[in-house]
Order: sequence, then C-alpha cells, then structure tokens
Amino acid sequence: MPVRNICCIGAGYVGGPTCSVIAYKCHDIKVTIVDLNQARIDAWNSDNLPIYEPGLDEIVFERRGKNLFFTTDVDGAIQEADLIFVSVNTPTKKSGMGAGMAADLAYVEGATRRIAEVAKSSKIVVEKSTVPCRTAQSMRTILEANSTPGIHFDICSNPEFLAEGTAIKDLLNPDRVLIGALQTPEGIAAQKALAEVYTHWVPADRVITTNLWSSELSKLAANALLAQRISSINALSAICEATGADVDEVAYACGRDSRIGSKFLKASVGFGGSCFQKDILNLVYLSEQLHLPEVAAYWKQVVIMNEYQKKRFVRHIISTLFNTITNKKIAVLGFAFKKDTGDTREAAAITLIKDFIQEHARVAVYDPKVDHEQIFRDLSEPGVIDTRKEVEKHVTICASAYEACHDADAVVLVTEWDEFRDTALDYQKVYDNMHKPAFLFDGRLILDAAKLRQIGFKVSVIGKNELA
Ligand code: NAD
Repeated sequence: MPVRNICCIGAGYVGGPTCSVIAYKCHDIKVTIVDLNQARIDAWNSDNLPIYEPGLDEIVFERRGKNLFFTTDVDGAIQEADLIFVSVNTPTKKSGMGAGMAADLAYVEGATRRIAEVAKSSKIVVEKSTVPCRTAQSMRTILEANSTPGIHFDICSNPEFLAEGTAIKDLLNPDRVLIGALQTPEGIAAQKALAEVYTHWVPADRVITTNLWSSELSKLAANALLAQRISSINALSAICEATGADVDEVAYACGRDSRIGSKFLKASVGFGGSCFQKDILNLVYLSEQLHLPEVAAYWKQVVIMNEYQKKRFVRHIISTLFNTITNKKIAVLGFAFKKDTGDTREAAAITLIKDFIQEHARVAVYDPKVDHEQIFRDLSEPGVIDTRKEVEKHVTICASAYEACHDADAVVLVTEWDEFRDTALDYQKVYDNMHKPAFLFDGRLILDAAKLRQIGFKVSVIGKNELA
C-alpha cells in the first residue's frame, strides 16, 4: 500500500526540513509535523520560521496549508498517519549512569509509547532520530507490549544525513537515502513503502536498503568518520605551527590522493554542532557496553583532540596578547557552530568566550543569525560562569562586525560566515578603529593573511606559522 499520510513527531532541525521537503515533492501525501513545544509550532505556522536554512522558507510557504501542516495535536496526527517518523531529540545524558556519553533515549521512548497508546490502525514507524545500534529493538518491544490487539507495527531505520546550513540542498539532492528494516516479508514491505516516498524525487540507485542494525550503526559511523577527519587535520595543524609547514598546503597535497579525497580536510578551531560529539560519544559508550575498551578509546580520541584544539587556540591568543587579556576587548566574529545556520549547539564560540571571561576579558560578539537571547543562554549555562548577570558584565552583543571590533584589542574569527571574508568586510575600517597593535586570529582559515598584514594587523592563523 503506498504511503498517503505521514506524521513526523519532532519539529526540529531535522523533522521540520525533512518532512517539509517530502510535502514539497509528494503532493499526493499529507504531511503533518507535530511537536509538544507550542512556541515552536506557532513559529512554523508564522512568517518567521523557528530555524534558519537557506531555501526552507520558500518550500514551507509553498506547501503549508495544502499538504503540509504543523500542529501540537500529536495524538490526532498519529491516528491519521500510515507512516510515522520519530524525529525527536536524542541528547547526550547529563546525569546518571553513562552521563556525558550515552544518548538520552527518553524522548524516543516517550514518542514510541504515545504511538502505541493512541494508534487505532497498523503503522510503519520510522526511526529518524540518531540512536544507538539496536534501539529499534526497544521500540519494537514497547510498541508490541502497549498496543491494541490486531494492530501491527513495522519499524524502519532511516537516519538523516543532512548537514545544517545546506539542509534543503542535501534533502533535495542526497548522496544517499538509507533505509534499514528487519529482513522479514513485513519488514521488507515497509522498507519498500518508505523507499517509494523518496523515489518521488531521489534516483532509485541512491536509495540504499540494509538490515536494521547496519542502518542504525551507519549513521553513528558516518558522523564519527567525518569528525575524525577534522580532528586528524587539526592534529596536523599543531605540527604545522611548530614546524613551518602550512596546513592548507598539507591538506591539499594529501587530498589530491584519490584514496584520501579533499573534502572535510579543513583545519579550524574545532568542530561543533549537535551531532558530531554526541554521536561519537554514543559510539564510545556502545563500544564500552560491548566490552570493547580499545575501540572506545580509539573513537574517544577524536573528541579529546577537538577539545584540545579549542584550548590550544585560546592559549595562543592569550600568549600573543602579552600573556594577559584582563580588561582587553576581544571581538568574536560568529557564534553559530558554522555558517548559514543559527544553531549554536556545541559551538566553539561558547568554549572560547567562557575562557575569555574567566581570564577577565571584555567580549563583544557579532553573529548575523544567532538570536541575542540564545547567546546569553548558552554562556550562562551552569558551570564556571553560572549567572546571567556575570555574563552580562563581560559580554556585549553587537549589531554588526564593525561595532564588535570598535576599540577592540583583538578580533577572533570563529564562524566562517561569508560576510567576514576579506572580500566582504572592510578590514581597513576595522583596523582603523582598533587599539594598536591590532591582533587578528583566524580560526577558520578564510582570510588572506598577507593582505591583512599589509593593512597592519598582527595575524595568526591556525596551522600556519607566520615566521615560516
Ligand atoms: P531538535 O531538538 O531540534 O528537535 C526535536 C524536537 O522533538 C523538539 O522540538 C522537541 O520538542 C520534540 N519532541 C521531543 N519529544 C517529543 C514528543 N514525545 N512528541 C512531540 N515532540 C517531541 O532536534 P534535531 O536537531 O531536529 O534532531 C533530531 C534527531 O535527528 C536527533 O536524534 C539528532 O541526533 C538527529 N540528527 C540531527 C541532525 C542535525 O543536523 N541537527 C542531523 C542528522 C540527524
């Protein structure tokens, strides 16, 4: 039976864009995206969508009210649907056993129990959230134990590979769509029904079908491998700075080997985002549970290297500024974890700014997309700096890069927004309004250091030794 009615539980960075694209490409399917968060749903129903992704507005505005709906009526949408995506958050556990490593599956379990309780007909339930391997088994047990007799559930795993900032592009033209299912006649039928939704626009040879567990593990593995490349080039960037090798040249020389490839070999202040660290820690936890300590240690090193890179950058900034940043003004350009998104989860800027505050600096932040309140929330989290007041004493949020850099002792480029490139921002104007010597730290390797040195800046770039 072809799928005619889809419910997506979770209207976040994944559920929202993914299911909006399904509605955009499949006019014969009714898509209802639900969430418990009323404010988020109100935003999805307004002119000001709750997340920023290039191309998202157009798609939502075209289909909303036709075959695309956003509501908090979770039960109603579950009952109507023949296929349900579970696209809820799976953050790293904050407390209890496995804290700091294991995925918190409370939201997945909550959504699964709700499906079992309210469903009045058989459904295909699709794991869209990133979950530890064999979570589908737990979902199956919950569904079977709590549902009305005569109702049958099939479970598919369909992890999402979109990258924030390019979500719509990735969804419209994915490298692959992965669908795992139990290799039983019912499982294979469910897998086929979900594959047919995607083949409305994705070439059939890009739809990969596997068993359930391969699909679940592939998502963790893909993110671990991507993050590992970043940590690998960042580890090399430290050697470059100490030796005079140039990390961009090393990356280019290595990347030209077709076995290595050039993508994801850009050195930086470190990776952020809600997924890489969480998914690697998930893999580490899984390995420990499986009594594979060497495997766990191997993957954990990727996260350790990432933390090291951020701390190394901060230490370099402080030592360059004559070993003290007390009362100095540091302009931080960018707060989002990468360009073209307003998402700040695990953003490097958070770690950096907390360190600057601890060293008694004055920090001025500018980001073109991040909500000002969000910045204060991120910096005020319990920990070293645990009150909003304390953060407000040290941090000013600015309306432009020029305002942030005015009277600054140093500019630290943290997010690679195009508007911070030396072809977009007037660095002469920035320089003229700064204290001298004017320091510039490029944490994303997007600036032409030679050009900026000519203006007069003292420039430091990760992975490059200016004395080389
Ligand atoms: P998110 O926090 O932005 O959204 C999740 C939403 O689910 C929240 O709005 C929350 O209110 C809602 N929710 C939780 N429990 C619910 C319930 N029982 N009923 C209704 N709504 C409920 O999270 P996200 O970034 O969209 O991530 C979702 C999943 O996708 C995670 O497992 C994540 O690891 C994975 N993923 C994320 C990305 C990414 O780039 N963000 C990419 C690939 C995969």
